[in-house]
Amino acid sequence: MAGELIEKKMLIGGELVDAIGGGRLESINPANEELIGYVPDAGKEDVEQAVVAAEKAAPGWGALSVGERAAYMRKVAEKLRAKAGEILEVEVKDTGNTIAKMRADVASAHKALDYYAGLGTEIKGATIPASAKNLHMTLREPYGVVGRIIPFNHPIKFAANALSAPLMAGNCVVLKPPEQSPLSAGFMAEICQEVLPPGVVNIVTGNGPSTGDAIVRHPRIKRLGFTGSVPTGMAIQRSAAEIAVKHVSLELGGKNPLIAFPDNDPEEIARVAVGGMNFAWQGQSCGSTSRLLLHESLYDRVLAKVVERVSALRLGDPLDEQTQMGPINSKRHYERVMAMIEAGKQDGARLVAGGKRPAGDYFRRGYWVEPTVFAEVNPKMRIATQEIFGPVLSVFKWKDEEEALELANSTDYGLTASIWTNDLNTALRAARRVKSGYVWINGASGHFYGTPFGGMRNSGLGNEEGIEELLSYTENKTIHILLK
Ligand code: NAD
Repeated sequence: MAGELIEKKMLIGGELVDAIGGGRLESINPANEELIGYVPDAGKEDVEQAVVAAEKAAPGWGALSVGERAAYMRKVAEKLRAKAGEILEVEVKDTGNTIAKMRADVASAHKALDYYAGLGTEIKGATIPASAKNLHMTLREPYGVVGRIIPFNHPIKFAANALSAPLMAGNCVVLKPPEQSPLSAGFMAEICQEVLPPGVVNIVTGNGPSTGDAIVRHPRIKRLGFTGSVPTGMAIQRSAAEIAVKHVSLELGGKNPLIAFPDNDPEEIARVAVGGMNFAWQGQSCGSTSRLLLHESLYDRVLAKVVERVSALRLGDPLDEQTQMGPINSKRHYERVMAMIEAGKQDGARLVAGGKRPAGDYFRRGYWVEPTVFAEVNPKMRIATQEIFGPVLSVFKWKDEEEALELANSTDYGLTASIWTNDLNTALRAARRVKSGYVWINGASGHFYGTPFGGMRNSGLGNEEGIEELLSYTENKTIHILLK
């Protein structure tokens, strides 16, 4: 496949199509800046067609039994599994994420489809004894057409995730993949075209402010599910509110603390701190523990070991099984990461690892940044408060538990937190006080289907990966039956 350009289409109303206006978006391999393929650049008129197709399909899809919808979804999951090898290579080239880690991402992309396919009969209403003369009951109904917009870091996995709960709940979907890494969504479009009735899933590729905004502002899409950055999430809430009363759920960014209490082995904390940064994704993971909060008794030893581990990470061709870190996903994002590294230096943090483009011929082209560690970070610095979404770890020192929790809660974010201690009381005290929606005690990074994932504060609204997400794609209707 080397050298061949990959051209993918959109899926609208059961047809694989180009954009009506004929525009295309280029997809660039961030490891070497080579063009690897194209997808259509959808305009407002393409989005309109996708919505019309979804509206046409929605009554039929919603009228199927949950078992019938589940069977369709399991078929999509099966085809996705079968194509995992082919998708993997494209996904690695398109994102820059390392193949060794990306393999599991692609291989598990089908999981959400299977999980929600099995949850259909949990879309339950209730009977409520509100009066003696009536039977009061609730029904959960689909919205009809759902819009979903996803970011660049796990393109195929997020595409599958974004379809699963809305489809099981009986909705049809208009999905917009990320413009920086859009190719794997083309595989999803092909699979859905083969398996699903026309219009049930529509995939429109394009940029955020055009294609994405057309979805957000479409007056007949009342339910929007967004995963991406805080500024975009806020823009989406504003735009949606200008058009109609919409249910918008948001899975946004994080600036997640890893709090290490004094009873830890420095070697273990260094290992989990580096693991929690997800360097195989260049730190481009919403749940990355990008703020390491070390008790003063651990600080020097852990910092030295973190620097050792980070400096030993093998950067290189993301398609090489031995590579441990690839390039930043896009030029624009690379420039932002570099600007944040500059901000760290200007604000007085001590750069102890990385901070620049790696040396060597291979790294001359592409969006390469060394894995970077700043020490002596304080909560006033920009690298302490703003999400970098890159391979940059900020290390803080604290003296007592109160200070640790103040530091942990000193940003506007609240996605994940990782607490390390063997003292159950300390762990639970910290877990209850930390303002994050997803908390690991003696763990980091893991996601567990069935448990609600979502952010507090500016990190989001709503929960995914469990029954809550499924129910959030339904509306309650209450019926009162007078018993004569
Ligand atoms: P982004 O917000 O720039 O873009 C995300 C998506 O929104 C893209 O598809 C983009 O085209 C679209 N978009 C951009 N502007 C839009 C607009 N005005 N209207 C409608 N759509 C628009 O985010 P990104 O850079 O692609 O991804 C990184 C961010 O995503 C980070 O902040 C990261 O933490 C977050 N993220 C969160 C989760 C989570 O589950 N909480 C998971 C992954 C990534």
